[in-house]
Amino acid sequence: MGIEQAINRADPFTLIRRPLLADVWLLQRPQPERQPVMSNGLIVINEDHVVLVDGCGSPLLADRAAAEIQALTPLPLRYLVITNWHGDHHLGAYRLREHWPQLEIISHGYTREAMGGAPMSYLPQLQAELPGQLAELRQLEAEGFSQDGRPLPAFLRADFEDLVQFDQLILSELQASKVTLPDRVFSERLTLTSARRSIEILYLGRGRTAGDAVVWLPTEGVLATGDLVAAPTPFASDSYPRAWVATLAQLEQMPIRFLVPGHGDVLTNPDYSQQLQATLAMVAEKAEQAVTSGLTLEAFKEDFDWEGQDLKFHGNNPTLALRWQQWFAGPVLDAAHHEARGVDPDPLLGPTTPGR
Ligand SMILES: [Zn+2]
Repeated sequence: MGIEQAINRADPFTLIRRPLLADVWLLQRPQPERQPVMSNGLIVINEDHVVLVDGCGSPLLADRAAAEIQALTPLPLRYLVITNWHGDHHLGAYRLREHWPQLEIISHGYTREAMGGAPMSYLPQLQAELPGQLAELRQLEAEGFSQDGRPLPAFLRADFEDLVQFDQLILSELQASKVTLPDRVFSERLTLTSARRSIEILYLGRGRTAGDAVVWLPTEGVLATGDLVAAPTPFASDSYPRAWVATLAQLEQMPIRFLVPGHGDVLTNPDYSQQLQATLAMVAEKAEQAVTSGLTLEAFKEDFDWEGQDLKFHGNNPTLALRWQQWFAGPVLDAAHHEARGVDPDPLLGPTTPGR
């Protein structure tokens, strides 16, 4: 069996450990287009401890990350850096602490506030709603994946079959998911100094969320971006497209050898990040023009011309085209129009307008 076939048969909480450098390892969640969404992880081994970035989006995933760390070194996991508040980056963190009680969890201050506040109310809601949604998929399976007597398109059928095949595991993982609040927060920069290397944890400005952290290994040129960069499909809910462009521009100033995205393959050149930046700049500019000319959000979305940028992300792949629509195209137009109107839909604040 080839590795791709093996991945296809593995459950969606699978992580694959890949070497980046002698003591820096990627924990890659394969097939980033697959649901449920789970982030990548990055392992950095220092002289007497280990640092992990993300890679613990569910309890089982965290247990597997722990097993990968233990396979590499007897040293303890000392720090976990969470790059944004969305659950696929941290909802299994408590299992890491069961393995290593001294573990210190670090995030941006905004991220901690979001993890402890209203934004995380999506978790109990999902825990309540997912059983019903999966039962509907089971029903669809019983009916031969057809609706109104017409079979579903093959890519959609494959997507649903994948969820049905693992539905009990997905449910049990979701029910066992919980928030563990970070112990230490930072606002602009936090440096973890050790004999082996310095690790810079940086906030470069708003982007995918209002509190994205990036983790920079200056000596090695390794940058973990969290979801400021996710490939092949970026995520744009809770984003600030105009600000995101400026934040990505800062990455260009850094001598990056390996860019570890929040989701997807490691990138060794700036092409994808620049493609994302150009797309966000186009969206932001069009939103600003639309707002200036009084175009409503609905009209702006309806008439939107991607100028071929969309095809650069999903090509002719129908699954990727669906994800593009779900995860990026829909949410980014909302976000850009809000941003251009000066409305901050920050889930911590609720919608606000200037002067209020
Ligand atoms: Zn993510």
